[in-house]
Order: sequence, then structure tokens, then C-alpha cells
Amino acid sequence: MEEVELVIIGAGPAGLFATFCAGLRAIKSVTLEGLETYGGQMHELYPEKKVYDIQGIPKMVSSELAKKMYEQATMFNPKIVFNSDVTDIIPTEGGRFILEVNGEQAYESKAVLICAGVGYFTPNKLNVEGEGTYADKGVYYKVKSIADFKDDRVIIVGGGDSAFDYALQIEPVVKSVIIAQHNGILKAAESSITAAKEKPKIRVMLNTEIKKIFGNGEKVNKVDILDNVSKTSSYLDVDSVIVAIGHKANPNIFKSITFESVNERYIKVDTNYKTNIDGIYAAGDIADVSNEPKFALLAVGGAEAYVAINNIKKYLSPQSSLNGEHSSNLNL
Ligand SMILES: Cc1cc2nc3c(=O)[nH]c(=O)nc-3n(C[C@H](O)[C@H](O)[C@H](O)COP(=O)(O)OP(=O)(O)OC[C@H]3O[C@@H](n4cnc5c(N)ncnc54)[C@H](O)[C@@H]3O)c2cc1C
Repeated sequence: MEEVELVIIGAGPAGLFATFCAGLRAIKSVTLEGLETYGGQMHELYPEKKVYDIQGIPKMVSSELAKKMYEQATMFNPKIVFNSDVTDIIPTEGGRFILEVNGEQAYESKAVLICAGVGYFTPNKLNVEGEGTYADKGVYYKVKSIADFKDDRVIIVGGGDSAFDYALQIEPVVKSVIIAQHNGILKAAESSITAAKEKPKIRVMLNTEIKKIFGNGEKVNKVDILDNVSKTSSYLDVDSVIVAIGHKANPNIFKSITFESVNERYIKVDTNYKTNIDGIYAAGDIADVSNEPKFALLAVGGAEAYVAINNIKKYLSPQSSLNGEHSSNLNL
């Protein structure tokens, strides 16, 4: 079994920045990613979208930004291993942790930083008739490629950022797009709602639920929708249904340890990004300090990873300073 000081779980944005920061603080780490590549949600859920809210980077396509994050993460030649699903964290009597990878004990570590985000992106489903039959034949849970929706009549289920982002993203190529929201409350950013209202091809239908999805055996062609206020049903001809109602996130996926959680969704951490278990920290979309809404953002996850790594350094080497030196002192 390989011995390391720190295992970082996940090579999404938070895990990648944590990997870089571990290098900055000369921590012997390994980063384990269950998928075959890096980038997390940026790669899996919105590779073609542009991101505008990273300090100092006015605009960059998500997949390009993920590439830059990986380049930064590998500056100190860390070990990053893909196809490595961390299946358990087993505490030892000596206060260390055995990391089980793909079902086998693979690493012994003094500390662990969990940057597992929303796991492996298991989307919440509508659970209506036709959804399973037409999965990938008109029913989708993300926009992997805008071109897939060319000339389609699309209905997007949801009222949050993902629903509005997807609508704005595919709007230039589709025939029409309806955003169907079930309880009249839109949670997306105001700027996205305003932008969507300005596009003639986008229509927002509040208090609307899909009850059934129909098709011709090969592809979706119709949905049955219910108006939740008038309680009337009607049919809509559509070519694609995008379900954008979030992902299943589970803070307790490791059988040998139990984390305190926030709303059974996030791993609860203190302001040092430490969990209730000494030696285990969490950062990014999976971690939350309080019961307040979480700012699930790239820059926030990066800052959390920075704070976590510096506290981990102190945990590993109590004589070291909490803050490392400024990176501008380096000459790389
Ligand atoms: C459509 C959309 C648009 C967005 N737009 C923006 C934006 O414009 N600006 C912005 O700041 N944020 C945006 N976000 C949010 C941003 O992408 C997330 O905040 C960010 O990806 C969180 O990073 P993370 O590393 O915490 O988690 P994730 O990106 O979820 O990465 C977690 C990684 O951990 C891996 N993993 C999980 N479990 C295990 C395990 N047991 N073992 C090994 N590996 C594991 C996963 O495979 C994944 O690669 C957007 C999100 C979506 C869905």
C-alpha cells in the first residue's frame, strides 16, 4: 500500500486547485478521480459554455478553463490518478486513513481532502411515464453538445440556473424552447431570467409540470403537461426534453465513516474546512460551513480548497506556519 501525506478525492475544479495548493505547500499528495478525466461538472455538464466570473479571466469556454486548471494543478508534478473511484475511507487506530479505491485498499494517508462535488452527476429524474423509454432518444439531463438540439422544439424542466443556462445556450440553434417550472418560483440568476425574456424563441411557463412523455418508438414527439393552477392538461409537440432539476448529492458515501451533514446534502465543515473527523477536510460543492445557501461556484470552491490545504499543512506539520509564502515569491 502506498503511503502519502494527503489524499485529495476528486479532480474537479476544487480538487485541481487543492492539488496545486498542496504542491505550493510541499505536501506529498495523490489526487484520485473516479472518471477518466479532470474538470468535474465543467467537463461533464457544460463543456461548451463560457464562464465569466473567474477573477482576472473575463471570459473563457469551460473546457478550456478546465484545461488551464489542470495545467496549474500539475505545476509541481503531483500524482493524479484517473479511473480511481474512492469507495471507502477506513480510519486506522494510529489516526491515519486507508483509502479503498475501486474496492481495494490502495493508499494509507495522514489526511484526506474530499472535493467530490456532486458525486458522479446522478441527475434527479422526473419519474414520469416515457422518461426511461426515451432516455437519450429525446430525453436528456444535460447539454453535452449544442448541435444535438439543432432545429428542435425543446422543453426544459426546471427553474434554476441550469434550466436557464441551457435555454440560452441552445437558443441560437433551436426552433423554440420552453422552460417549464412547477411551482412558480424561478431560482435562476436575474440576469439569466432577463436575458431569456428578451429572446423571442424562449418561453417561460410557470406552474407547469410534465406528466408523460410520448414518442414514436425512436424519438420523443410529444409531452402531456399539467397547469398546476388551473389543473388543466394539454399536449405539446416537442422533439427534446431536458430535465434540469439538480443532481443527487450524498455527503455520506463512505461506509466506514459518518460525517455530520447540512440538510443531508453537504458535508458540514468548520471555518478551517475540517469535518467532524480529525484529519478529514472537505471543500467545493460538497462542503458547507452553515445552513445558509451554499455558493456553489468555481472561485468559491478554489478559495475553500486554499483554506483547507493550509489548515491541512498545519495539521500535518504543527510547527509550520498556517500561511505559506505568496506565490509571487516563487520563480518557476
Ligand atoms: C450548467 C452549470 C453551469 C455552471 N456555471 C458556472 C459558472 O459560470 N461559474 C461558476 O463559478 N460556477 C458555475 N457552475 C458551478 C461549478 O461548476 C461548480 O461549483 C464546480 O464544478 C464545483 O467544483 P467541485 O470540484 O467542488 O465539484 P465537481 O465539479 O462536481 O467535481 C467533483 C469531482 O469529484 C469526482 N468524484 C466524486 N466522487 C468521487 C469518488 N468517490 N472518488 C473519486 N472521484 C470522485 C467527480 O467525478 C468529479 O470529477 C456551473 C454548474 C453547472 C451545472
